[in-house]
Parts: sequence; C-alpha cells; structure tokens
Amino acid sequence: MDLMEYQGKQYFARFGIPISAGGIADSVEEAVAQAERIGYPVVVKAQVTTGGRGKAGGIKLANTADEVRFHAANILGMDIRGHIVRRLWIERASQIAKSSTRFDENGQPKAEEFYASFTLDRSAKKYLGMLSVEGGVEIESVPDALIAKIHIDPIDGLSEDDCRAWIAAANLPEAAREGALSVLMALYRCYTEGDCELAEINPLVLTADGRILALDAKVTLDDAARERHPEWSEFEVAAVAAGDSREALAKERGLQYVGLDGTVGIIANGAGLAMATVDIVKQVGGAPANFLDIGGGASAEVMVNALSVINADPNVRSIFINIFGGITRCDEIARGIIEAINRITLNAPIVARIDGTNAAEGRAILQAHESEKLIMLPDMLSAAKKAVELAGK
Ligand code: GDP
Ligand code: MN
Repeated sequence: MDLMEYQGKQYFARFGIPISAGGIADSVEEAVAQAERIGYPVVVKAQVTTGGRGKAGGIKLANTADEVRFHAANILGMDIRGHIVRRLWIERASQIAKSSTRFDENGQPKAEEFYASFTLDRSAKKYLGMLSVEGGVEIESVPDALIAKIHIDPIDGLSEDDCRAWIAAANLPEAAREGALSVLMALYRCYTEGDCELAEINPLVLTADGRILALDAKVTLDDAARERHPEWSEFEVAAVAAGDSREALAKERGLQYVGLDGTVGIIANGAGLAMATVDIVKQVGGAPANFLDIGGGASAEVMVNALSVINADPNVRSIFINIFGGITRCDEIARGIIEAINRITLNAPIVARIDGTNAAEGRAILQAHESEKLIMLPDMLSAAKKAVELAGK
C-alpha cells in the first residue's frame, strides 16, 4: 500500500523523524484555516500517491490567506499523472540552507536538499540504503557516482558506525552530518520495524538554522505484514476518502488493481499473466495504465467491473484484454466481454487476445462482433503491438 505524503510523514513521526508542523485540508476554506493555525509562510501540497507533484504545479508556497485560497483552489481537483487531488497538506514552509560547495549552471549555490531511502535489493538478498547530496529531483536523474549505496544484512542491522561512514561517502556537508545520522537511523527503524517496502525522503533538507527535516515522504507499506499492524487500517480509510479513485473503485469491486501512469489499460486473468502483459506492453514501446488481474473467473459481471474501472481512468487510450482460459472457458470469457461492451460505453477501443480452453469457440464469438472498437488478435505479441499502436504516442 502506497501512502500519501502526509500519511508517510505521520508514520515517520512515530519513529522520531523530524517533520514540519502541518495539517490536512479537503477544501479551500479548510486550507486557509490550517494556514492561519500554522502560521505563514506555508506550503500547499497536493496529496496523491504519485511523485512529480512539484513539476505538475501541485506544490506552492503561500505567504497570505489569499495566496493559500488561490493555490488551494487551483490544486484541488488537479489531475497529476491520472490521480485527482482531493486532499491537501498545508505545512509550515522551511527555509532551506544554501550550499557553500555545490553550484548550479548559473553559478548560484544549490539548496541543501538530499535524498535518502531504504528498500530491498532482492538480488543481493539485503536491504539497500541510498543517500545523495543531489536531492529534490527524481533519483533516476542523479548520476550514479553521486549516490552512496549501502547494503545491509537484515540479521546484522545498521550500526551507527556504518551509518556514519555511509554519510561520509555521500559527502553530506559537515553541518548536516549529526542530524542526518539520527534521521537515517530512525528511517532504518521505520523501514524495518515499520514493515515498509520503501521508505524514501526526497528531499531531506538542512534548514538555514541548522536543522535536518524530512520535507517529503514516500512510503510503501508491505501488505504481507498487515496482520502485524492493525493501525494501518486508518491509512486505508483515508485512501478511499481522498486517494486514488481508480484503486478505491477496484477495491470495492474485488479486483486486484494497481494504477500506473500510462495509456494502455490492461485486463488479464492471473497475476502472472497480468504482469507479463504489463511487461510486453512496455517491451513494444507502450506505457501500461494499470495492472489488473480479474482472477480465475471471467463472467460478464467481472468483465463489466474490470472495464468500468479501466474506463474511469482518463489516460486510457486503448484496452488490452489478455486472457488464457484454463478452467474458465474462452467462450464464456468472450460472452462476458460482449455483454460488458453492451452494458458500458467505453472511451477506448479493446484489443482482445484469448487462448486456451475452447479458444476457437471464444474467438468465433468475438469475431462476430468485431469492429474498430473491438479487435481480436490470436497471439499476445501482435495484440500488444496493436494496443500500443491504438494508444498512440
Ligand atoms: P514532489 O515534487 O512530489 O517530490 O514533492 P516535494 O514534497 O518533494 O516538493 C517538491 C519541491 O518543493 C522540493 O524538492 C522542494 O524543493 C520544494 N519544497 C517543498 N516544501 C518546501 C519548503 O517548505 N520550503 C522550500 N523552500 N521548498 C520546499
Ligand atoms: Mn519529493
């Protein structure tokens, strides 16, 4: 489960990671009330479970109630990579220190914004910590040489000495080192004891008055550890109230759905095939809009639910239905697809590939209904190519 920034920060705070004072707001007036309570200047921040909010205009500084009103009105309802903003986090703005050693291309000192994260390196069978002085931008765009990596054996854990050496390897400025040590140790506890798949702070900043603060939080909780954390249910409730409407809708309908940022909607049966479908769409140059596993059955009801969730995603330009009939027969699946098409008005064409038990009968049913809104192709690769072509660029 991906947390929104404010939830991630609440989680961080439990482990002693310093964050700025702030509060949530679901309306313009609530945003102003929060800002008045917190004191100016504040940052108005879109709460969605995707990054790049700053670039999309979802993070704004406000010095007065009028500015808060203006930015909150703009940001609420905004679409950020397919996520509609329904909740804001209003936070006390921080003054970030300027570097005395790092300068941008115009010769101006860079802000002291760092990157820190813990995740799992499956191939190394160890935890992976990443730390960089070049924070505030997507880590993918930071040169590898500027990222200090540390592999941590889960049995040994992270010692303070190792953490100090890691901070030195990352070349964090002297003034940030003691603060960074305590934040990184706390982040490690959050990652391990807090059962995270990812715990990321970007940016971790040094303020002008010498404090270290987490200005952003990206936390993915490990769903397999849910039983250990009854307190996580509050995050779920908030996700449905204010989060990804696509994922909330899918959850309500009992579908295994993960929202992605692309344009090719995907429906497959079985998690393995669904993943393979996401992969092949990428491989032929497309961008998947989601992962969706409809599970074993593929009745008309399931197809209607799956297609309506995909249809609710404004980014979808084509829908790739990839089904391998095992116990479920292809003719049933084909009837499900036809019935679903008759019941909902789709915004994008379907490319269907069905194979397996009773494939010939199933294909015959689809062929009888073939149109520019429903294209049937016999194999996965050509269907993927067609779906990507229809999604355009
Ligand atoms: P993201 O774009 O989704 O990663 O959102 P962030 O929360 O990381 O905010 C984007 C950028 O806004 C940060 O990298 C900072 O440069 C800037 N920012 C956010 N909060 C503050 C703040 O309190 N003070 C200042 N000066 N900059 C901020
Ligand atoms: Mn960020």
